[in-house]
Amino acid sequence: MNAPNVNFAARTLRLRMPRVCVAVASTDVAEMVERAEGLVRENSLLEFRLDYLSNPVAALTRIKRLLDFRPDVIAIATCRRTVAGGHFRGSLNTEVEILKKAAEIGFQAIDIELETAEALNPAAFEELRDSAAVIVSHHDFKSTKHLDETFERMVKFPADFYKVVGTATCLYDNVEMMKFLQRTSENHAMVGLCMGEQGLISRVLALRAGSVFTFASTGQGEETAPGQIQFRALREQYRVEQVDAVTKVYGVVGDPIAHSMSPALFNSAFRYENVNAVYLTLHAKKLSDLLACLRDIPLSGCSVTMPYKQEIVPHLDNSDQLTQQTGACNTLVRGQDGRVFGFNTDVYGLVAALEARVTLRGAKILVLGAGGAARAAVFGCKARGAEVFITNRTSATAVALARKAEVNYIKRQDVAKSQFDVIVNATPVGMGANKQSPLEDKELNARYVFDLVYNPVETRLIKMAKAKGLHTISGVEMFVHQAARQFEIWTGKPAPVDGMRQVVMRKLGIQAAAEAATQPVASEPQQASVADAPTPEVVTAKVAQKAQAAAPSNGSGTRAKAAPAKITKKVAASAKAVKPAKKATGKDGSRAKPAAKKAVSKPAKSSPKKTKSR
Ligand code: NAP
Repeated sequence: MNAPNVNFAARTLRLRMPRVCVAVASTDVAEMVERAEGLVRENSLLEFRLDYLSNPVAALTRIKRLLDFRPDVIAIATCRRTVAGGHFRGSLNTEVEILKKAAEIGFQAIDIELETAEALNPAAFEELRDSAAVIVSHHDFKSTKHLDETFERMVKFPADFYKVVGTATCLYDNVEMMKFLQRTSENHAMVGLCMGEQGLISRVLALRAGSVFTFASTGQGEETAPGQIQFRALREQYRVEQVDAVTKVYGVVGDPIAHSMSPALFNSAFRYENVNAVYLTLHAKKLSDLLACLRDIPLSGCSVTMPYKQEIVPHLDNSDQLTQQTGACNTLVRGQDGRVFGFNTDVYGLVAALEARVTLRGAKILVLGAGGAARAAVFGCKARGAEVFITNRTSATAVALARKAEVNYIKRQDVAKSQFDVIVNATPVGMGANKQSPLEDKELNARYVFDLVYNPVETRLIKMAKAKGLHTISGVEMFVHQAARQFEIWTGKPAPVDGMRQVVMRKLGIQAAAEAATQPVASEPQQASVADAPTPEVVTAKVAQKAQAAAPSNGSGTRAKAAPAKITKKVAASAKAVKPAKKATGKDGSRAKPAAKKAVSKPAKSSPKKTKSR
């Protein structure tokens, strides 16, 4: 090969790089090539993990056929040794020989780990660099530390790309990585990210921090690094190629958070509504970790889930009336000045789901439980004029809540003797693998049974209620409506409610199928994977029309009109100045008429009660 040409091609490679590199790995070369062929039409940048193969040199002949057939492929050869976290058990010299051969058969770039570069003599390194573009890489499988020190060691080698990979042990490690990329990418072609579940932020946002490309896996179970996202999810759900400097970042914070439906739901809705925003899972093991990221990522807003709904409240600069009443916050909005506002949309979600079916004024409602969801039910229903009764496993907490909310406490043994309009299950009984019912059959004396548990959709309680001929309401309704309200608060646009519901139902169906597949006597499971995660196409135009017709209830039993397009734009623009306003919720704690949307978009005349300055 002609060295000057190689140099020119290698040095300009950066300009031709797609933004996602799909890492292709298998112990079997035929499977490796098959996986590459399956993706090459969609993405031309592929990393072949030769270290997974037992005989990489022999495998190169097979890979050459693919490269000859697809000259548009930009192929990176990696044969990482075990000392650097790879699978190759051979010597340093053998690794170098394999990489040279890879360059000879048409690989445009070769990845050598810093440890190898340091062990090579300079002439051998130069020789490698004459054969292809060189990526000097470093992987830290434990932490994201000493980035600058590592980089100092790396830049001693004149490489075409420097790849620095850490492991996120907290959310803030992503911030460290992105700051590092911003510092270094002005003068060098950088690739950087954090591995691990908590590294998702960097996998999606590193491109805008200066990384030339990011990595993805070919499919579920085919990841080459912890936390690697499947190519299609990265492209379709997180729209990584569209993320730019002005893309707003949202997320759901909790611990644990891996199985949250919210990213699929919000990313679909953002895409459908043409909102330049991305929504991530934020696994914070401590609230302080999230608070630091709120400032530095910066996040425009956040959904808050267990266990932080109460813990976040003292950290808010301002909050709505429902947050103050319930002492729980599930929605954050970060203003342009960095101040953090808290909203409670759980109450709205619960009331919206109920009011679509029941007139709450004067209705007798039994709430089971005295935790966060129960508080939303109690305060929400009371505010709508319902007569509320609470019972709970621990009677003292139910009595305390009843006192605080000025509603009735009912002993469990009296439930069977009473009649209600609605029974609301606000305990986790029936959730996931728990197949129990919180009530016995004889205690189901109501017209409606509303189970806030939504996974599975058909809980034991719902099945029992249906068998008795009662009306049932699934927890999916509350989940979708609370999310829809968050969407409206963040974007100022009406939420595509029906489309959001479809996404959740599809996700739950996929999870149910996956769970059934693990059961020994399960019927034939559907083939399901995260790659099947609902794409925004699910949210069809038809659905959008319906969503407009079914615009969120205004809290008075009638439906709020969806904002006309012009107004919507105005609202979206002015939502930047969002402040929770007293007007955003009615006196009774329900969401106000369309004024609620105005309240979201315009600064309120009178600010709600200050929670605490930080
Ligand atoms: P939480 O704050 O931990 O409260 C749980 C309540 O359930 C407590 O009152 C607890 O009683 C009671 N409880 C727990 N285990 C029980 C058992 N085995 N038998 C009887 N009572 C039991 O939880 P949360 O945040 O309120 O959530 C409760 C449920 O609502 C969860 O399943 C959650 O997924 C669901 N939820 C759904 C939505 C939605 O959008 N659909 C939103 C929020 C919550 P003690 O006081 O005796 O401990």
